[in-house]
Amino acid sequence: MSIDWQQQLCNNIKSVDDLIKTTANEKLRTVFSSHANQQFKIKIPTGFLSNLSDIENDPLLKQVLPHANETQLTEGYLHDPVGDMDAMATPGLIHKYKNRVLFIVTGACAIHCRYCFRRHFPYSDAQINKENWEPAFNYLREHSEISEIILSGGDPLMVSNEKLNYLIQQLEQIEHIKRLRIHTRIPSVLPERIDSELISILQNSRFLVSLVTHINHANELNESNKGVFKQLKQSEIQLLNQSVLLANVNNQAKILIELSEKLYEYGILPYYLHLLDPVQGAAHFFVKEADAISLMDEIRQGLPGYLMPNLVKEIAGEQAKTRIL
Ligand code: SF4
Repeated sequence: MSIDWQQQLCNNIKSVDDLIKTTANEKLRTVFSSHANQQFKIKIPTGFLSNLSDIENDPLLKQVLPHANETQLTEGYLHDPVGDMDAMATPGLIHKYKNRVLFIVTGACAIHCRYCFRRHFPYSDAQINKENWEPAFNYLREHSEISEIILSGGDPLMVSNEKLNYLIQQLEQIEHIKRLRIHTRIPSVLPERIDSELISILQNSRFLVSLVTHINHANELNESNKGVFKQLKQSEIQLLNQSVLLANVNNQAKILIELSEKLYEYGILPYYLHLLDPVQGAAHFFVKEADAISLMDEIRQGLPGYLMPNLVKEIAGEQAKTRIL
């Protein structure tokens, strides 16, 4: 009998003991930092670790394993590096760029990425819940310059189909909104969540829908999620990907080329490669801008133009992402 996505979530790795049990590697107990885990709890779908390569250096495990480096305070690294709180127009609605807004649907995620720029985001203070959506809808009605909504989080696909459908229907009633974008890590890490009802909701929307996945390494794409991307593609949902450039995870030309090629094989176009946002606790993942530029020069030689992601960084207060040439 197949397990549904809610049950799958209950089986997530949520402790060091779960991690040891899943990986059968006792050595991880010495690398696991309880202090880092207290600051940001471990959360890993078991499927995400099903193809571990070299357990000490695995590029997927490094993204999710609480490490002592996270507990070191680093100058210049912040709790809100992209200025989300300053741009909060109503609870959960972040308006930074003229015609696009971010709608924070939930604070929950299927996975906890150690480098997450919202790892300190005060989701409960921001009162992000359905009961507080009305002020956001009012704001959107009053701002006719807004033509695109980006559902974000947390992960917006963590809410039920019913709730998501309600939200999309409310947004569809606002005439000047034309496009819906969904920023999510779920299709690759919890493919069971992409059920036929969800696809039908997206397919039947009056919006032009694009789904922006978050995949950092080719190993995150495998037989367990291939079918889901095929279904999304067949449903004419635009699939784009954004990655974060992470030291010792994907900061090699060979790895980035393989990622772009595999994304394309799965029907996804590389869109952004982000420099790490300087969030406190993630400095050990940082790759210098000059090194990122050299990497882009290298991968340009191995990829056709349409598989080149745009190298960008977010500067708080700017009117758009900053492209790094
Ligand atoms: S899925 Fe996205 S929002 Fe959630 S922890 Fe990872 S990067 Fe952060």
